[in-house]
Amino acid sequence: MSLNGKTAVITGSNSGIGLGVARALAGAGANVVLNSFTDREEDHALAAGIAEEFGVEARYIQADMSKGDQCRALIEKAGACDILVNNAGIQHVAPIDEFPVEKWDAIIAINMTSAFHTTAAALPLMRKAGWGRVINVASAHGLRASPYKAAYVTAKHGVVGMTKTVALETAKEPITVNAICPGYVLTPLVEAQIPDTAKEYDMSEDEVVEKVILAKQPSKEFATVEQIGGLAVFLCSDAAAQLTGQPIAVDGGWTAA
Ligand code: NAD
Repeated sequence: MSLNGKTAVITGSNSGIGLGVARALAGAGANVVLNSFTDREEDHALAAGIAEEFGVEARYIQADMSKGDQCRALIEKAGACDILVNNAGIQHVAPIDEFPVEKWDAIIAINMTSAFHTTAAALPLMRKAGWGRVINVASAHGLRASPYKAAYVTAKHGVVGMTKTVALETAKEPITVNAICPGYVLTPLVEAQIPDTAKEYDMSEDEVVEKVILAKQPSKEFATVEQIGGLAVFLCSDAAAQLTGQPIAVDGGWTAA
């Protein structure tokens, strides 16, 4: 399938799943706008690399997804947004009575509220273009809870709720709104949790992967950024034109249980 001439804006895409989705969409012919809160040479180099590898236009636009005005400015600076991938996210793990307030606020802002602002800013552009796709990267934690992840689970359930609501608001238009709900994907976000968890459980890092991280994932395998990217491309295809308002789990069976 070809996404030639479409512009995709992917929030939080200088790493992990966001970068994987950007590469998959560029591979299908879309022009891509990468984003994070940093403004380093290597961020811009990532975009240049994608442009060269896939023969598409690729830009990096710095914007902090914890700030509503910057979320909206990202879409404005992109100029076009046929495909919006709300992916930026962070994690913090603590019992709720010890949960740092600033971490709670940051997770709710980056993982959930940013999608409100970018979607609000992008829908008029999609309507003008007569076609649009909103893809929210939620999580298996948008469908199931785990202890010590109150802010993350709250935000991701919120994203799933927003996905369904915006899908209903756009149902009569050539716009679809869906959520991809990954189980565990081996990205910097997950890698960062391994050493601390190993200390906490007095286990080796390999044991942590097998017995703690993948404990809930029946396949006992990580999902990959390429698999998430492939699903994003499918959601942009004509075959998915009637697929809207759905949380789609890519979790090796976790949420089947
Ligand atoms: P990651 O840490 O590799 O990527 C997170 C991205 O968000 C990075 O590009 C980072 O720069 C960006 N980001 C963080 N704060 C930001 C801010 N204030 N403004 C703009 N960008 C910001 O992690 P990942 O695993 O690729 O996570 C991507 C998304 O996938 C997140 O929403 C995460 O919750 C979700 N997710 C990840 C997994 C997993 O197992 N890795 C599972 C389910 C869902």
